Amino acid sequence: MNKGQLPKAYEFRDVEARIYAFWEESGCFRADENSKKPAFSIVIPPPNVTGQLHMGHALNNTLQDILCRYKRLKGFEVLWVPGTDHAGIATQNVVERQLAQQGLSRYDLGREKFVEKVWEWKEEYGGYIIKQLKRLGASCDWSRERFTMDEGLSRAVRIVFVKLYEEGLIYRGTRMINWCPRCRTALANIEVEGEELPGRLYHIRYPLADGSGELVVATTRPETMLGDTAVAVHPEDPRYLEVVGKDVILPLMDRRIPVIADTYVDREFGTGALKVTPGHDFNDFDLGVKHNLALIQVIGEDGVMTEAAGPYAGLDRYECRKRVVADLEAGGYLVKIDDHLHRVGHCYRCKSVVEPMQSLQWFVRTQPLAEKAMEAVRDGRTRIVPEKWEKDYFQWLENIEDWCVSRQIWWGHRIPAWYCADCGEVTVAVEDPDRCGSCGSPHITQEEDVLDTWFSSALWPFSTMGWPEKTPELTKFYPTSVLVTGFDILFFWVARMMMMGLHFMKDVPFRDVYVHALVRDAQGQKMSKSKGNVIDPLIMMDQYGTDALRFTLTAFAVQGRDVKLSEERIEGYRHFVNKIWNATRLVLMNVEGARILDEIPEDPGRLAHRWILSRFQKVVQEVEEALENYHFNQYAQSLYQFFWHEYCDWYLEMIKPDLYGDDPQAKVVAQTIAVQVLRNVLVMLHPVMPFVTEELWQKLPGTEGSIMQAEFPPVDKYRIDSGAEADMELVMGVIGSIRNIRGEMNISPAARVNAVCLCATETEKGLVEANERTVVDLARLEGLSVALQGQGSKPRLAAGAVVSGVEVYVLLDDVLDFESEAARLQKEITKLEKELSITNRKLSNEDFLTRAPAQVVEKEREKAERLGEKLEKMRRHRQRIEELRHDAAGSAG
Ligand SMILES: [Zn+2]
Ligand SMILES: [Zn+2]
Repeated sequence: MNKGQLPKAYEFRDVEARIYAFWEESGCFRADENSKKPAFSIVIPPPNVTGQLHMGHALNNTLQDILCRYKRLKGFEVLWVPGTDHAGIATQNVVERQLAQQGLSRYDLGREKFVEKVWEWKEEYGGYIIKQLKRLGASCDWSRERFTMDEGLSRAVRIVFVKLYEEGLIYRGTRMINWCPRCRTALANIEVEGEELPGRLYHIRYPLADGSGELVVATTRPETMLGDTAVAVHPEDPRYLEVVGKDVILPLMDRRIPVIADTYVDREFGTGALKVTPGHDFNDFDLGVKHNLALIQVIGEDGVMTEAAGPYAGLDRYECRKRVVADLEAGGYLVKIDDHLHRVGHCYRCKSVVEPMQSLQWFVRTQPLAEKAMEAVRDGRTRIVPEKWEKDYFQWLENIEDWCVSRQIWWGHRIPAWYCADCGEVTVAVEDPDRCGSCGSPHITQEEDVLDTWFSSALWPFSTMGWPEKTPELTKFYPTSVLVTGFDILFFWVARMMMMGLHFMKDVPFRDVYVHALVRDAQGQKMSKSKGNVIDPLIMMDQYGTDALRFTLTAFAVQGRDVKLSEERIEGYRHFVNKIWNATRLVLMNVEGARILDEIPEDPGRLAHRWILSRFQKVVQEVEEALENYHFNQYAQSLYQFFWHEYCDWYLEMIKPDLYGDDPQAKVVAQTIAVQVLRNVLVMLHPVMPFVTEELWQKLPGTEGSIMQAEFPPVDKYRIDSGAEADMELVMGVIGSIRNIRGEMNISPAARVNAVCLCATETEKGLVEANERTVVDLARLEGLSVALQGQGSKPRLAAGAVVSGVEVYVLLDDVLDFESEAARLQKEITKLEKELSITNRKLSNEDFLTRAPAQVVEKEREKAERLGEKLEKMRRHRQRIEELRHDAAGSAG
């Protein structure tokens, strides 16, 4: 289709795919690492390769896209690096579930075959999320798409691992770790979700071995008693001074275990005697090390009781609990059972209850790395926005523990460590060795474990740019400009990128971290499948178009506050998309064949022109300031307000006489300003509404190529004209007040009325007179007479209002039939009274108030309030009509 021609309606379904293909083909997303322009770069938080686009992604990527598109318009060389994360446990679980449907487990396939299967799965389904991001309009440099397990990134992982090992920052050690018996892997502390759950506290009798009495211990997990190796008491607890150093007999197992004393014991809890199970509790493990206690593992890695559990071996951990309790009771060892709330940890992936377990794992020594990560935020090299997240960041890093990075799964980066069967030494190397590094023996086997997924994503900002090579990308684009992320991965990911970036690149990975909020439903509830309140971005894009979805998310992206989203809101902003389309269509029809000026005249004359240019300049500044400071909602709102309520509602209406008139000079000025403002508004809207703005841009006169290559409108401060803005305020005020009176008095929109303006000053009088034509047209007047106050008299039978110093009167005698208007109002009032009394009856009904859901009651309350206000307004209006009728009767008589 040619320039200047637009179909009646915007068919986003046809436009979006075509436009996106056009961008990709014309290389608009590609970053040039040799460019002389200043650099702006972002790395995408890589979605899981198993991912499906949800509202969180939609918000996160819309905001990133806005920044990238904005910076391109501002003349930056922009690199947005996309990619996906191999998502270790998540992806492995997906493929395991598929196998389970065929009755197979990963062990049936064996490691190699299983990993092959995961790769097959990745090739087939792994691209979904990327397609969905394209659908959303993301302007990533797809030529640089990376995957955390592709060759380059895998090599970076190995190099980092080996370096950290050589520096003593990675070690292998026995530690208590959180273990998921379902996923059969270790979990990092933050991968465990704690939850307060009702449980039981079992009080168990442990007889002293010498028969001199007994100790009673309390536990929430009686099955772990099978692994007890001591009972601990406080050294100053007077109840137990005599028993320290003696032995007790462990019931059911008939094992002698010592009573030890340690100040760690809380005298107030239970009986003050604590059973110690170093194999299955973090604190007990530490006590065990301190007191040199044996460690007995009674629960296996699969959650089944081990041989060490004696008669209970082979039982599931929960089955075992039941049996232990029953046996204790039968043996007379159970004193009592209390109800007890306690914290239970769950696997963040599969929700199984995690098991503290001692195990030989690989750890990153995080403290030295964390110090530097804190310093960089303290000294401002990296800024966290909003600032309140800094506190969380520091708190976490101050209390950081060593990071357990080994995972007992198969999908991921296999740890580059080899064990020697002959000398027992470990060889850690970037290239697969064929001999032991210590003794040269060829009998070496590689570590079975893989690395935590977050290990590779911690390297993302530099590994994606070709590290360890010194690439031109790294020179140009590292540190990246900003990271846009949700707060849920502030520790998992952001803090670790800081640590790794500072250690390996000697510089922070990003200048800013912008932390956005969650997308919730309209009531502020978290979206979840079980609540049925999930809004699917793909369905929303199908129904309302991508631009409407993006604009809605942006308009509600207030810093530090959650985005409350509803389908109605998206539908609402679709009207805005249509408004932009329709307004552009109108402008195009009015400039067809016109010779638009390159420059707007320095003094465009007419108030409307000076006003819109001044307002436009302010909006340019507002938009810049909002985007530079991540106030996304302000960016969206100020353009919405300006375009709809100033440019469309007022400006285009006001210049109609010029556009349709015979003065060629006035016409071309109006055409030029209308087009230039529109063109620049489209440019400013482009970052949030990329599709419709591109489509319209290409139809506007005087444009070339893609809107992505346009220039962000420069600030022309001399166009700011506060005099014009104040004058226009007054003119709009006069028109607005006449429109109000027309509405209140129920005057037919078609009827022309007469109005009078009585001005306080000559200046005001001059201003209203100069804009008489505008007021007459926009307020639908028959005639307007303007006079100074005191010189003209207040008209009879008129409804009035005051706008700053101007008294405005609308003459009513010709247009209003007082009798029928009074009757109409009475009818309306009666109807409202009836409705209100029904609602009030409901609200005074106890039954309704107690039984109906709170939301329903609230709705009813709001309704009553609304009706009350409306009724009040109608009554006031009736009174006014009565007074006018009275006046009319008085003057007639
Ligand atoms: Zn799990
Ligand atoms: Zn060896």
